[in-house]
Amino acid sequence: MSYTDDEQKEGIVYLVGSGPGDPGLLTLKAAEKIAEADVIVYDYLAGHNFVHKAKPSAELIYVGKSGKRHTVEQIDINQILVKKAGEGKTVVRLKGGDPYVFGRGGEEAEELAAAGIPFEVVPGITSAIAAPAYAGIPVTHRDHASSVTFVTGHEDPAKEDSAIDWSVLGKNTGTLVFLMGVKNIEFITRKLISNGMDPSTPAALVRWGTTPSQISVTSDLTNIAGECQLRGLAAPAVLIVGSVVSLRGALSWYEKKTLFGKRIIVTRSREQSRKMAEKISANGGEPILFPTIEIAAPTDYGPLDDAISRASEFDWILFTSENGVKRFFKRFFDLGRDIRELAGPKFGAIGPVTANAIASTGIKVEMLAKEFLAEGLLKVFEGEDLTGRRFLIPRAEKARDVLPEGLENKGALVEVTPAYQTLRPSRADVESIKNSFLGKSIDAVTFTSSSTVNHFMEVFEGSDIKELLSGTLIASIGPITSNTLGRHGLKASIEAREYTIDGLIKALMSHYVKAKTPV
Ligand code: SAH
Repeated sequence: MSYTDDEQKEGIVYLVGSGPGDPGLLTLKAAEKIAEADVIVYDYLAGHNFVHKAKPSAELIYVGKSGKRHTVEQIDINQILVKKAGEGKTVVRLKGGDPYVFGRGGEEAEELAAAGIPFEVVPGITSAIAAPAYAGIPVTHRDHASSVTFVTGHEDPAKEDSAIDWSVLGKNTGTLVFLMGVKNIEFITRKLISNGMDPSTPAALVRWGTTPSQISVTSDLTNIAGECQLRGLAAPAVLIVGSVVSLRGALSWYEKKTLFGKRIIVTRSREQSRKMAEKISANGGEPILFPTIEIAAPTDYGPLDDAISRASEFDWILFTSENGVKRFFKRFFDLGRDIRELAGPKFGAIGPVTANAIASTGIKVEMLAKEFLAEGLLKVFEGEDLTGRRFLIPRAEKARDVLPEGLENKGALVEVTPAYQTLRPSRADVESIKNSFLGKSIDAVTFTSSSTVNHFMEVFEGSDIKELLSGTLIASIGPITSNTLGRHGLKASIEAREYTIDGLIKALMSHYVKAKTPV
């Protein structure tokens, strides 16, 4: 018997922990299961960073809480899991932190077991250890604590027969970590003191741990509740009680990162923004993806397909962007062509990123313009007789004409073919970004090409852009982009010295280092 695609697939549920917030703390196995899932049932604390890892066809079901209200009752969540897996689907039940640490994951697993649905658990990093770690607090330490206890702080203080033995906790000499305890923080600390714990025991509250919004408050058992109330701190936060909290002064690291807490808009296409977003996160900042450019197939593949079929006839194939390279080769192979057809033409690139993209296909780049501008490529050909030379330039549908015109002026026969188009993004996020600008909650906006500037302006057409950006740092990747900003009446406050993403991140970093250094 052979297997066929039509055969009924057996459903399964993966109870997956997403980690506490920092997308880097999502485990490899969690990412793998998310990518396989037909259905993802997720919570408020599971974050939204997983969405781009899911299959486009995956069904996303939000069952989190909004305010005090459960969007979906637990019993209904259980039913969703059983039903979807029963239909033969691969279901990921995604929870913040670890699924078995105060996540009702145990109850859901019992339900699945009772219904005979296969399930597996993918543990996640719980906020109970990750939030303290990012606040500079190791939950155990040879000189401070030989045990760590996770406690729910959610219990109703009015409850007569508490499931928590406060007389034991009051005598605890290790570290206590309370989850879901912000509302009851006053009650919790009073209970510990009245059950024998030293009122001067160090205590800390860490809110939105491992995210750029992380806030840590350190005090002692007597005063921590008052301090938190004073600052109006709400969930989600963990309360850490014990002498390990005193290490925070020396061990704080995350909150010291250069871009910590900075909200930085990335305007390039989603496809291209990953690296930049990762660099911002790695330095403690919060990347806000607002792609003013989306890369899509050209309106008509005809000219590209035609050029591809005659690719061997060109003397040169020049690329001006990484997108051009990727789209050209993807189409080339999609059409079933053979790489050996490209043995004849020489390859040229503007900028090292474009050159690397060509090189990664296994083709040698014979000419690289050092300047990351079309003018640079022209300079390379200076003094050469290009009469009758055939050039192919696969690139964006709309692009500057400096390069083809310059080559034609030297007698070359230039064929420019659209390999992709850049689209304006949907307006879905525009309003919310606008409100963030108006609320002065965006620290910086980055522009990585003239098109990101132009598209940004189009998106905000009709708004007073200067007013909108008045509280925001404008960061540009280089002089051409800055010029384009200038043409729209805006001035870049930061310009990268090296016209690359790394260069732009460096420029942002040194700006904030300077801003932090006391004069
Ligand atoms: N399964 C989760 C806990 C779910 S209960 C885990 O392992 O982390 C929800 C509680 O977790 C919140 O009330 C808060 O106490 C804690 N929590 C979750 N994410 C947090 C974060 N990023 N920072 C601080 N506390 C967090």
